[in-house]
Amino acid sequence: MKQADIYCEKCNNEIMHRSELVTAFYFLRICAYHTNCYSEELKDMNGLVLSRNPINSVGTNFVMVISFVASFGIIVYYGFWVYTPIAFILPSIRAVSWFMYERHLP
Ligand SMILES: [Zn+2]
Repeated sequence: MKQADIYCEKCNNEIMHRSELVTAFYFLRICAYHTNCYSEELKDMNGLVLSRNPINSVGTNFVMVISFVASFGIIVYYGFWVYTPIAFILPSIRAVSWFMYERHLP
């Protein structure tokens, strides 16, 4: 169910479906791109500041799970409870991407 209009950061056209959405860091901001626009943006000058790792990708999900389990395991094993928020950094970034863009697209 579509709830909001999501526009591509490069071409300013509307992104209609989740399969054509790429979210990535541009400086410290999470931006939405069409798949093709993202690859063109990487080749352009903006590629210097655009993240090479899309947030909404299978690879990021895999790294997120592995890093969460590993960091949480280290925290529990060594008792470094002060560092618990570090384990939640990647899952939080993924959740923000989902709340900002992905949940609005079919
Ligand atoms: Zn575009």
